[in-house]
Amino acid sequence: MLLDRLKEIVGPGGWADDEETLQPHLSEWRDSYSGRTPLMVSPSSTTQVSEIVKACAAAGTAIVPQGGNTGLCGGAVPDSSNTQVLLSLAKMNRIRSVSRNDFTMEVEAGCILATIQAAAEEVDRFLPLSLAAEGSCQIGGNLSTNAGGINVLRYGTARDLVLGLEVVLADGDIWDGMRSLRKDTSGYDMKQLFIGAEGTLGVITAATLRLFPKPRNRQTAFLAVGSPSDAIDVLARMREELSDQLQAFELIPDRAIRFVCQHIPNSRRPIEKAYPWYVLLEASGGSGSDDLQDSLMSLHEDGLTQDVIIAKNEAEAMALWRLRHAISEAQKLEGASLKHDVSVPVNAIDRFIAAAEDAVSAAIPDVRVVAFGHVGDGNVHFNISQPVGWRSADFVAERDRIARIVYDAVASFGGSISAEHGIGQLKKDILCDYRSSIELGLMRTLKKALDPNGILNPGKVV
Ligand SMILES: Cc1cc2nc3c(=O)[nH]c(=O)nc-3n(C[C@H](O)[C@H](O)[C@H](O)COP(=O)(O)OP(=O)(O)OC[C@H]3O[C@@H](n4cnc5c(N)ncnc54)[C@H](O)[C@@H]3O)c2cc1C
Repeated sequence: MLLDRLKEIVGPGGWADDEETLQPHLSEWRDSYSGRTPLMVSPSSTTQVSEIVKACAAAGTAIVPQGGNTGLCGGAVPDSSNTQVLLSLAKMNRIRSVSRNDFTMEVEAGCILATIQAAAEEVDRFLPLSLAAEGSCQIGGNLSTNAGGINVLRYGTARDLVLGLEVVLADGDIWDGMRSLRKDTSGYDMKQLFIGAEGTLGVITAATLRLFPKPRNRQTAFLAVGSPSDAIDVLARMREELSDQLQAFELIPDRAIRFVCQHIPNSRRPIEKAYPWYVLLEASGGSGSDDLQDSLMSLHEDGLTQDVIIAKNEAEAMALWRLRHAISEAQKLEGASLKHDVSVPVNAIDRFIAAAEDAVSAAIPDVRVVAFGHVGDGNVHFNISQPVGWRSADFVAERDRIARIVYDAVASFGGSISAEHGIGQLKKDILCDYRSSIELGLMRTLKKALDPNGILNPGKVV
């Protein structure tokens, strides 16, 4: 029996099949997807993962890899057939090594992101991957979704932070690609195939990550601007003047600040007067606050900003970031919302937001658009709150119609229907309408080559 064999591989304490333990692993963070499993296995070594995959491959049983289960597209939960084995990486949480001089570290896939950040900090190094779920998400999940977060502008996405990977393939073989090379042109770059593949091509068991010098003189500022177009001008000017000191650049509409101040205890407006849009930015390096202050002053004189505050200390900086991170929570408390994690070229952000807002407002008058996000990377979370007075269920029933309108607008500006959250189950069908048949064909060819029997996370991505 397969299930007995899997229990034998992981030993006592390495599996669960009771409802209470399984429950948090069977539904997604937003409760949009849930499923069932006959068994969750939690291996503690790469060899155990390999044996599990071999046993499942022999039985033709599907495996769903799961990290911190903070993904937002239904990628990490099994379907409702009660046949798919859930493979939790949570026990593979060792930091294998940290090389201070090489600016690298080797970590197992189940390490929590915040733990890795802290381990880097201990040796005066910096892992730039940072997102609101960092206390629960795992590096294996971050790599499998090619997570973005707040520091992409300067350091790139998860994909850019990886030098090597260890992966268990669909037949159970272990690919040891744990290199720490900055340069390597010896054939195809295999690791990039598994990054962003959402567990459909292999199970990531470990990674070699790039570390960076710890940013010094970190400065956080909050600016009021008249429009997204002004924000894009500010971004271009600041990049010109500060070069790569600019680390994060977030656009926030006044409606988001209103929701946060209304629903999240101890929140208050950083700038008392309300302006239509704000930018939250972070810069580091250089000679300290003078560079940023000079740059902000000249922007203000040129009329590109309407008001500016610079955080005077760490506590003030954290309060500003708390506002930004509280937007999703506040929007949840405001009623139902339809969310679209999309990207467009940076210089099209203002036109995209205007076009998409016009189009959804024409479909449902009085919808409340909350378009915010990591606009330094062209990433907009185009979220829409239900009109006042609507029943939540009626609004949620509009999900597919509204998504189509938003994604059509995204496509018209040459954008992507998924910027950083992935495809999972949520966007699997609609992906076919927004990638060319050649691209879809290449994806299917890869899937067939690496997982010919379709046992790795079936029903997700392709
Ligand atoms: C409050 C909040 C804020 C967020 N903010 C951001 C943000 O700013 N930027 C961003 O990019 N995302 C964000 N996310 C989304 C989410 O945190 C990321 O997608 C994260 O990278 C997922 O990691 P995880 O460990 O929770 O993965 P899971 O949710 O467990 O899994 C995600 C996918 O990866 C697969 N997977 C997991 N581990 C492995 C593995 N070891 N090998 C192979 N496949 C695997 C799963 O099968 C699934 O398809 C946010 C989520 C929340 C709840």
